Amino acid sequence: MDFALGAEAGAVFDMARAFGQDRIAPHAQAWEEAGEIPKELWPELAELGFGGLYVSEEAGGSGLSRLEATLVFEALSMACPSVAAFLSIHNMCARMLDDFAAPALKDSLLPGALSMQTVLSYCLTEPGSGSDAAALKTRAECTGTGWKLTGSKAFISGGGYSDGYVVMARSGGAGPKGVSAFYVPADTPGLSFGGLERKMGWKSQPTRAVQFDGCEIPAENLIGEEGQGFTYAMKGLDGGRLNISACSLGAAQAALDATLEYMRDRRAFGQSLTDFQALQFRLADLEIELQAARVFLRQAAWKLDQRAPDATKHCAMAKKFVTEAGSRIVNQCLQLHGGYGYLADYGIEKLVRDLRVHEILEGTNEIMRLIVARSLVSK
Ligand SMILES: Cc1cc2nc3c(=O)[nH]c(=O)nc-3n(C[C@H](O)[C@H](O)[C@H](O)COP(=O)(O)OP(=O)(O)OC[C@H]3O[C@@H](n4cnc5c(N)ncnc54)[C@H](O)[C@@H]3O)c2cc1C
Repeated sequence: MDFALGAEAGAVFDMARAFGQDRIAPHAQAWEEAGEIPKELWPELAELGFGGLYVSEEAGGSGLSRLEATLVFEALSMACPSVAAFLSIHNMCARMLDDFAAPALKDSLLPGALSMQTVLSYCLTEPGSGSDAAALKTRAECTGTGWKLTGSKAFISGGGYSDGYVVMARSGGAGPKGVSAFYVPADTPGLSFGGLERKMGWKSQPTRAVQFDGCEIPAENLIGEEGQGFTYAMKGLDGGRLNISACSLGAAQAALDATLEYMRDRRAFGQSLTDFQALQFRLADLEIELQAARVFLRQAAWKLDQRAPDATKHCAMAKKFVTEAGSRIVNQCLQLHGGYGYLADYGIEKLVRDLRVHEILEGTNEIMRLIVARSLVSK
């Protein structure tokens, strides 16, 4: 058993961390205020191979393991979890295309996705179906020459901003087996977007409803086999859950680092805050929780890489544990900053807001418990 990162994995982490500190951290607050991440950032990330982190090398991707990919998200989140999480969604879509799209569709879409000239969004949730995603109602009708999509998706990260949408829609009967996956380019007639959602965190990412009003796409835009879309969508989620956990972890680490620095300088009652034993113990608890989260996450990523039979359960457990630990840690870091923690300039309140949604999406943490509980009682 070896808990150390190899040289290559360490280099991946360092590269992502350096890029994040140089190109993302100085702008994170401005992008949050603008409500948008400049599109020019993505090709820069793509130059580092981050447009297709776990797209196979044969297809032009970086071919990283899931564990290595979590390092990228952990490192980038030390600069801004909202930017890192958006990259995770794009990567989830790119991997779906690599794994399941027919060769012609892959050839036409992957180069743009890998260079991030084409930014991708993932459209599963609908106004009437979130956790119960298999109940989705968006219809995909076969027209003979292609598909016609009608319906509405809710909460889409990058809605109205991305260049292409991976859409799960119902081409058959009720239930998961009636769902297929499609690629819908942003300029498809009949595709429109709701207003910008006003939200607690992840403010630099635009979130909008995505509407399909008789959107016609060619037959080739069906991803993989008809009726397999739900399976494909769920396959992407194990990795997505690891990534979102890594985003919580990196942000929590950044908050703890900043808090230590702040506490060393800040004085009260004639001494530094780090001299109060009650606060030292608080810091120790945060460090213990953070390190436990890191080990648990990396073990889950390793299980997914090994295709272990209990990988899905471990991804769910890690997502629940790490995202909740991350939220608790950043909230405690805010408290240790006193009133300054509440001010935007110190960067901690943004992390508290950004991390909250990690407990909700990629499957809520209740659904994570459901996955774990089912695996326990179904033997
Ligand atoms: C900022 C943001 C960005 C998002 N981006 C995307 C995106 O890009 N693409 C996308 O497809 N979706 C996206 N989502 C949607 C997200 O995945 C859903 O919000 C999430 O899956 C929960 O669905 P819901 O909101 O419909 O809640 P519901 O499913 O209605 O759940 C409500 C509550 O009931 C609980 N609950 C539901 N079922 C059960 C059960 N069986 N047992 C116990 N508890 C249960 C839930 O845990 C939750 O607490 C995004 C959401 C947000 C907030």
